Amino acid sequence: MARDEREDVLLRSAAAQAEEELLRAKEALEARSAELARSLAMMRATFDATSDGILVTDRERCIIDYNRQYVAMWRLPDGLLERAKFHHPMEACSCQIRDRAAYAARLDEIYETAPPETTDLLEFLDGRTFERISQIQYLDGREVGRVWSFRDITARKQADEAQVMLAAIVESSEDAIISKDLDGIIRSWNRGAERLFGYTGEEVIGRSITLLIPPELIEEEQFILQKLRRGERIEHFETVRMSKEGRRLNISLTISPVRDHHGRIIGVSKIARDITESKRLQDILAWDALLLASVRDAMVVVDFNGTITYWNEGAARLLGWTVAEAMGVHYSGLFPDAAHSLIAEQISAHATSALEWSGEYEALRKDRSRVWVDARIVPVADAAGRPLGILGLAHDISERREAEEALRAADQRKDEFLALLAHELRNPLAPLRNGLQVMRLAAGDAKMVAQARVMMERQLGHMVRLVDDLLDLSRIGQNKMELRLAQVSLKDVIDSAVETARPMISAAEHELTVDLPAGDTLLDADLTRLAQVFSNLLNNSAKYTENGGRIWLTGERRGDEVVVTVRDTGIGIPANALAGVFDLFSQVDRSIERSTGGLGIGLSLVKGFVEMHGGTVVAESEGRGKGSQFTVRLPIASPARVPEAPAAGRTAHEDDEPAHGRGRRILIVDDNEDAARSMARVLSLQGDEVLAVHDGAEAIDVAETFQPQVILMDVGMPGMNGYEVSRRIRNKPWGRTPAIIAVTGWGQEDDRIESREAGCDGHLVKPVDLVELDKLMDALVRAKRAANAAPQES
Ligand code: ADP
Repeated sequence: MARDEREDVLLRSAAAQAEEELLRAKEALEARSAELARSLAMMRATFDATSDGILVTDRERCIIDYNRQYVAMWRLPDGLLERAKFHHPMEACSCQIRDRAAYAARLDEIYETAPPETTDLLEFLDGRTFERISQIQYLDGREVGRVWSFRDITARKQADEAQVMLAAIVESSEDAIISKDLDGIIRSWNRGAERLFGYTGEEVIGRSITLLIPPELIEEEQFILQKLRRGERIEHFETVRMSKEGRRLNISLTISPVRDHHGRIIGVSKIARDITESKRLQDILAWDALLLASVRDAMVVVDFNGTITYWNEGAARLLGWTVAEAMGVHYSGLFPDAAHSLIAEQISAHATSALEWSGEYEALRKDRSRVWVDARIVPVADAAGRPLGILGLAHDISERREAEEALRAADQRKDEFLALLAHELRNPLAPLRNGLQVMRLAAGDAKMVAQARVMMERQLGHMVRLVDDLLDLSRIGQNKMELRLAQVSLKDVIDSAVETARPMISAAEHELTVDLPAGDTLLDADLTRLAQVFSNLLNNSAKYTENGGRIWLTGERRGDEVVVTVRDTGIGIPANALAGVFDLFSQVDRSIERSTGGLGIGLSLVKGFVEMHGGTVVAESEGRGKGSQFTVRLPIASPARVPEAPAAGRTAHEDDEPAHGRGRRILIVDDNEDAARSMARVLSLQGDEVLAVHDGAEAIDVAETFQPQVILMDVGMPGMNGYEVSRRIRNKPWGRTPAIIAVTGWGQEDDRIESREAGCDGHLVKPVDLVELDKLMDALVRAKRAANAAPQES
């Protein structure tokens, strides 16, 4: 082959080789750039996928790049950054930052001082918190810009804060908050636990919880742990634990299991509350509630707005509004009048000072009726002393007030009666004194003396009657009145009454008509007392009827009763006074009674006596001027009994003539010298031989020498009383001879028994009726003579 040809072949093969290499190089380049593009895309994807927001800026603060997360975090409108790229500084979105000035200043600082790395917290207006980290970027040792990464740490920050809060709460809790592991080893111990149990955290953390449990309750821990291992919670478990000083504490425990992230129970939290005080308060409250329930008083609390906030059963009983009706109501609806202003005053007084009020007032009930209450109003405050309102306490005093009223009225009647009594007792004294005067001045004129004596006897009789009535009344009042019951005929009773009333009826020229049932009507009665009943009624009719009026006394048998009415044409009794006429000291019209002489006791005696006989009495009148009628009903005696002789009484009237000149030796013993002397005078005028002495010892001496046949022995004497003197006389050798007659103000059966036991033969009640005395002395002297004449029994 030629050289040129060879050269040509060589050239061609070299060219082909070069071309081949070029091709290979091109292929390699292409492969390389594809790889680059791939890794760039990967990088971009990673850049966008990271959870942090990333921003890249150049040295002039202009934005070069950013990722998707950044746009999302800052909640920027689409395309904003695309447009801002390469010429817009990063402050573009600072409007979302809470403190924009500080943010801008910090950026300035970073760019000026160019620290390689920074960390800042950014607080957004919407409450989010970002952590921002920046790093300088270098290329070939030259600073080219910064990469900023933003992370949203809002949730983490909140969790941190919650953690801090929780710790603070635990620390500041009043309750003891403790945690322990499942073996019962204490792991945490707050300040409340320190206060309650007395141990510090260092002393107990790491030790067993059983430290706190009293020995007798030690199994409790096992029971608690078992429940907790099962995942159960224990609430308000009341038990006792020990403090460091050995004090027993009443506590309430709430215990919960503590779990880790996987739900495994890893320990126990325990809250212990000291309930010693609250237990004590509970006890007190329970007692208070019991006490309040047993309070019968009305209790009402009104707050300072005037609203009723408490209303007990007592208030419901007293005032008629139920608890439900009264609660929450304004007080003015329930308390009108007096209480209204009282409460208003108290409420307003609270503004300045706490007042108290107590007193009585008439409260209005729901049904508009009134009730007198004793009330107290006091301010009420809570345990801390803060005023809550006012408390009203009240109870019904109407009964007491009625009793007081009655007492006042009775007291007044008594005063009036005493004045009247003095007046009535004085009335006869003037004529008596006049009579004495007449006797002295006209001693020689037998006729005048006799007239004076008759007048004086009448006046004395009047006085004695007054005093007798008073005594009867007091005996009835003290239940000391004794009736001498016997079977008596109604006719005897009425005859006796008419006889007593006759002088008064005649003096006023009234016409009396008596109409009794035919035949004998027998009563179990005390003749004297029953006669007194009808004589009182007849006397009243005579007294309260104009002269020349008419009086009817009518008796009628009705079944086993006898009905006796006394009717007159007199002044009558007004309707409103009818019910009260039988009351003691009651007089319808004082002005009339004074002129007629009366004490207002006659009708009470009538009622007393009638009721003692098992009967009733009522007064009727059609009014003033229409006359009056008194109706007495009495049971008739059972016919089986044989009538007895009527008992002796004031109206007994056998031969009344005193025996004169009997020559009896009589010793009068009375400490009242006037009484003794005047009696001695009267008896010696009759011809008896009389001595008077004024005390017991003297009586015994004189009796020994005087040898009286009769001793009139006053019982009530100072020193040795009449009974004692009688006993001593009876013990003397001569002491059986005289007849002793006790003279006393007391005539009850008991008194008579007492005088008999003292050795007295007779018993007379003052003032002594001379006729009766004379008869008794005669009988006794005769009996003694007979006894002494008879041979003595051994
Ligand atoms: P006195 O001593 O005042 O008569 P009484 O107790 O007997 O007392 O009577 C009480 C009152 O009853 C009298 O004061 C009188 O006002 C009234 N009275 C009693 N009887 C009659 C009567 N027959 N007619 C009118 N009033 C009478």
